[in-house]
Amino acid sequence: MKKILVLEDESNIRSFIVINLRRNGYEPIEAETGEQALEQLKVNPDICLGLLDVMLPGIDGFEVCRRIRASGSKMGIIMLTAKSQEIDKVTGLMTGADDYVTKPFSPAELTARVDALVRRLGVDEDEKARVEIVRGPFVLNTRNRTLEKNGQRLKLTQIEYLLVKLFMENPGKAMSREDILSAVWGDSFSGELKTVDVNIRRLRIKIEADPTEPEYLTTVWGYGYKWGY
Ligand code: CA
Repeated sequence: MKKILVLEDESNIRSFIVINLRRNGYEPIEAETGEQALEQLKVNPDICLGLLDVMLPGIDGFEVCRRIRASGSKMGIIMLTAKSQEIDKVTGLMTGADDYVTKPFSPAELTARVDALVRRLGVDEDEKARVEIVRGPFVLNTRNRTLEKNGQRLKLTQIEYLLVKLFMENPGKAMSREDILSAVWGDSFSGELKTVDVNIRRLRIKIEADPTEPEYLTTVWGYGYKWGY
């Protein structure tokens, strides 16, 4: 069940929201103050979305939102606002909220906004899974054509990118030089198999801690290479 943070100081509004979320298959996590909300987020890092009331005793909902974003969280945030001035402030949106709902709101309206944002967040995650290949410390982003090792960007030539993509897409599979040559350079390329070795050597210098003792891109003697991770 998806966890949703409900930050609202007025208990009757809070229980109204909580009941509606439960009815729609969500697991509400309640907080009465901004401080409590931030505490709940620490205890429940899997909260996927927060409903944040603006007017609160102590730090207000905007401040909570700002702190959530400052922590690097990409969770969904819907502000619950009471007045039109608050909406102006939200649309100024320096705090990083995704949406807002004006009070008073109907259960149907709230549920529709929550469902829509949850769906959007889910789509983003699927999209990320399609775009990124993760193997050990490496993350290959096939949209930006970039490779990171332990979060550090490695500068690759286009050939090196294609090589590493081929290997990361086929972990553990031994690939012959011929296969590599035709996959990366194309069938019409009339170069020598040595081209593969030369480029693998260059790639290893970039991705391996010790290119003479490769840990990831290993040699299959008499045949070719394999991504061993
Ligand atoms: Ca309030």
